[in-house]
Amino acid sequence: MPELPEVETTCNGISKHLLNKTVAEVIIRQPKLRWPVPARLKKELPGCKIISVKRRAKYILIATKTGTLILHLGMSGSLRIVKASTPFDKHDHFDLVLKNGQCLRLHDPRRFGAVLWTQKPVLEHKLLSKLGPEPLSSEFTANAIFKQSRNRKVNIKQFIMNAHIVVGVGNIYASEALFLAGIHPRKTAGSISLPRFKKLVKSIKQVLTAAIKQGGTTLKDFTQSDGKPGYFQQQLNVYGRKNQPCLVCKKLISHCVLGQRATYYCTHCQK
Ligand SMILES: [Zn+2]
Repeated sequence: MPELPEVETTCNGISKHLLNKTVAEVIIRQPKLRWPVPARLKKELPGCKIISVKRRAKYILIATKTGTLILHLGMSGSLRIVKASTPFDKHDHFDLVLKNGQCLRLHDPRRFGAVLWTQKPVLEHKLLSKLGPEPLSSEFTANAIFKQSRNRKVNIKQFIMNAHIVVGVGNIYASEALFLAGIHPRKTAGSISLPRFKKLVKSIKQVLTAAIKQGGTTLKDFTQSDGKPGYFQQQLNVYGRKNQPCLVCKKLISHCVLGQRATYYCTHCQK
């Protein structure tokens, strides 16, 4: 699943190809994505100039003066820039064709992605309005989540994966950040001290920053025909390493399921 670092890198990668370009045509080959792709895009977007390309959580927001296109990559989506004349694949569901002959193409085999359109201020859209802070912003602090965690009985892993608390901490990054912070994933959120939250917030920022940096070097060009973003290859300390030795203490990495998600940790390094 594309996680925040992949979406950030995608957003940066497509931005330079889209900014200040005018939309010529919208092609919807498959309207049945996570939500129906609004047919009115075909009428309302052509002629519009793209004025910004931004990310909020895992949504890519492509703004014009008349409205904002909201894209989400879902479980298996990817975006690339191709010539509009490039033959389309079975899973290429949506094209945003530009006047310069280039096109932003959404590929999504599992169709959990989204293409939506709003003419209201985009951050007030129901999918975005209740989201917690961006993990790499100055609003995401240990003090803030420490306060929010008091009396919370949920385990810390699910707590940091809750988009109302902070956005973009996906399953892999949650396991990795908890390992770096030395916190056991089953620990009750409300029982964690402020100094430990400080370590955790620092670790979350650290793993995401490293992944984005890695992504920037992995995905240099969104115009390659095979340039489909996948998982970034990166050094993982615990995720996917069940029964392999901990890189710090050599004890075997444990595995459990929390909130239906695979969870990896070291019982020696994480308390
Ligand atoms: Zn260990």
